[in-house]
Amino acid sequence: MLLRLASLDLPGLVHAITTRDGGVSAAPYASLNLSFSRPDDPEAVRENRARVYAALEIDPRRVVQAGQIHGADVLVVEEQHAGRGALDRSLVLPPADALITRETNLYLFACFADCTPLLFYDPVSRAVGVAHAGWQGTVKQIGAATVRAMAQTFGSRPSDISVVIGPSAGPCCYNVWPHVADEIRSAFSFRPDVLSTRDGQTFFDLWAANRATLEAVGVQPERIESSDICTIHHHDRFFSHRASGGRTGRFAALIGMRE
Ligand SMILES: [Zn+2]
Repeated sequence: MLLRLASLDLPGLVHAITTRDGGVSAAPYASLNLSFSRPDDPEAVRENRARVYAALEIDPRRVVQAGQIHGADVLVVEEQHAGRGALDRSLVLPPADALITRETNLYLFACFADCTPLLFYDPVSRAVGVAHAGWQGTVKQIGAATVRAMAQTFGSRPSDISVVIGPSAGPCCYNVWPHVADEIRSAFSFRPDVLSTRDGQTFFDLWAANRATLEAVGVQPERIESSDICTIHHHDRFFSHRASGGRTGRFAALIGMRE
């Protein structure tokens, strides 16, 4: 049900990336679909979310989710947002593909199926963040935008921030259309190796691109941990939009600091 990464497995910090197992949704959302925006039974999604919150020992009234539109806007989450989007789609906050907070006992939540989850933690200024980086968010450098927002809002130093790059479409499987490759090529002219060509197809390395984006804004290479799990390969373990032809659920990435 829950995947944890070693670099964020710290006292007082709650984080997880969910897997497909342990929920009650029926196929093609089986079983731990956590998104109310899929055509799944909302009661099943509510139960699935309740199971995740219980497993992490967090109160649903302290979870926060915003709309996700493949943008690069960063929202500073504050006490007044507590519970928005936690158990009901209608209360989801307006779109922001990255959330940051310095409040303790608030848990930032976002959904994924092939897009890259990024989790952020600054132990010095005591702040956390989550970002949704598909190819569009990656081209828009949402990882760098999140780090800059943490610096501006909380005084975080990029060199103090740890970042996890979670499971997503991997460079082994993630072939992209020519017009997408063109956008990536121009955004990553400083790192042409994020694209590769095999059998006449162009593949995008979301992990390397996000890592490059983060390092460019001052995150230390040794503070970036990638799970290196390809969701298309491992669609039995993680929801994959690509592997399912679009009919599937969403897993979640979540982070927050206990009181
Ligand atoms: Zn793969």
